[in-house]
Amino acid sequence: MDGEKSLNFIEEIIEADLAAGKHKNILTRFPPEPNGYLHIGHAKSICLNFGLAKKYGGKTNLRFDDTNPSTEETEYVESIKEDVKWLGFNWANELYASNYFDNLYVFAKQLIEKELAYVDDSTSDEIAEQKGTPTTAGKRNKYAERTVAENLQLFEEMKEGKYEDGSKVLRAKIDMASSNMLMRDPIIYRIKHAHHHRTGNKWCIYPMYDFAHGQSDSIENITHSICTLEFIPHRELYNWFIEKLNIFPSHQYEFARLNMTYTVMSKRKLLQLVNEKYVSAWDDPRMPTISGMRRRGYTAESIREFCDKIGIARRENLIDIGLLEFCVREHLNKISLRRMVVLEPLKITITNYTQTEEMLSSENNPEDENTGNRQIPFSKELYIEKEDFMENPPKKFFRLCPGGMVRLKGAYIIKCEEVVKDTEGNITELKCTYIPESKSGSDTSGIHVKSVLHWVSAKHAVPVELRLYDRLLTVENVDAAEGDFKDYINPSSLQIIATAYAEPVLKNAVINERYQFLRKGYFCLDKNSNEQKLVFNRTVTLKDTWAKVNK
Ligand code: ATP
Ligand code: MG
Repeated sequence: MDGEKSLNFIEEIIEADLAAGKHKNILTRFPPEPNGYLHIGHAKSICLNFGLAKKYGGKTNLRFDDTNPSTEETEYVESIKEDVKWLGFNWANELYASNYFDNLYVFAKQLIEKELAYVDDSTSDEIAEQKGTPTTAGKRNKYAERTVAENLQLFEEMKEGKYEDGSKVLRAKIDMASSNMLMRDPIIYRIKHAHHHRTGNKWCIYPMYDFAHGQSDSIENITHSICTLEFIPHRELYNWFIEKLNIFPSHQYEFARLNMTYTVMSKRKLLQLVNEKYVSAWDDPRMPTISGMRRRGYTAESIREFCDKIGIARRENLIDIGLLEFCVREHLNKISLRRMVVLEPLKITITNYTQTEEMLSSENNPEDENTGNRQIPFSKELYIEKEDFMENPPKKFFRLCPGGMVRLKGAYIIKCEEVVKDTEGNITELKCTYIPESKSGSDTSGIHVKSVLHWVSAKHAVPVELRLYDRLLTVENVDAAEGDFKDYINPSSLQIIATAYAEPVLKNAVINERYQFLRKGYFCLDKNSNEQKLVFNRTVTLKDTWAKVNK
């Protein structure tokens, strides 16, 4: 249809299912394991699962996949909830796979009763060995001969804590010759005497991922269970459990996970960056975590837009991080308040300015007139950016030079009359004159200049700290690079400017506001700010094409 985006393959499946009356409503789930903070890859999965439900009038559950007691923490649960909410989504139910430990235990006993599961005392090495290889069939061992009664009793004793970790497992009895290695009598329960963040010490046996995930979907009546491609081989097992237990037929669909250039995306690796202090925390603004991106100033809208733009694929690919930055810039351009901040000051004195000071009115955001104007003090002594002046400029240098003229943004045209130096020859100050009738908005000077510079009034300037970020990694595709990913960490991913000079309204900056520091990039206030010191993060640089002269 004209003007409408074509459907992706999951939407096609859902529309067909709805048309065939297979489901009245769809129910999806987002199933994070609470063993780390969410990253941009998870954002992709969140946007997909919640987005589909929204589009088709269904719902989405947030289910914590907390079947592994040793790696999960409540801190992660809280951060995950915060991130999903911040991205703009509401879940129908907050659920935990651990809520289903009783059900799963009953399911396991049902399989035993159907002679479809047995307790195995082999070591993990023995089990691996007996599994065979992709080209040779595996062999069942003597434990597979155990009777139903014997298995029921042993499984009960496993639950009661009679056995040590690793001394026994419960396995599904499927097919030791299957071409799918996961079907060769997979382990479904293991013994682990460990404290669980929600069930405490109630259990010392825990279900394996494959035994928990599909059944949790089924218990919740999930219609479309969407996961990433590496779970394709698990689908057969997912369906086998549902069929043998005769429970709600949830279906699994797979899409390609998001991989992005210059980014590591596994929680395990991100945890190393935190623990080994390559970054300050999970929400370090260089991290590809949702909390890091939020702190850096990315907006939820821009992340959703990015996820929408990349669409969903059935083949692995690598997305250019530049596309995410593009989405961030597009949104920030619309919503940012324009401010002037000088990073490296060069003092100028306007010798013919006879007033002490005046207030100049300037637009907060030319993209949004509702944001009104702000007042900027102008006075005899100003700071401009050091790099905006050259004593011996090359031909195409249009910024300030001896005898040259530029406009100060929202103020006047100035002319550089004299360069003042210290005894070592360093430039310490420029003496300039200004053209009184060139005031922005009422310019009658008739003078045309090729550059507009940002500036601040020296005595009104507020000292602030700026944190400028670069990519965390030095290679595009770190997963394809040789050696450890930490060998590719960019040593200059963080540059701190301890003192930059900001126009005074920035004293009132708040965390959720977004700013464009003219000619320098998009910035936001960092949570490390306090009464004494404001700290700003550079979210992203401006387009490289910034050059336009505007008054
Ligand atoms: P990681 O490998 O980074 O630790 P994970 O897959 O183990 O991630 P989970 O908490 O199990 O993390 O994932 C929750 C959901 O998010 C799953 O459905 C998973 O498929 C999805 N997901 C994780 N990483 C990505 C990614 N890079 N792109 C898309 N979806 C992802
Ligand atoms: Mg996982």
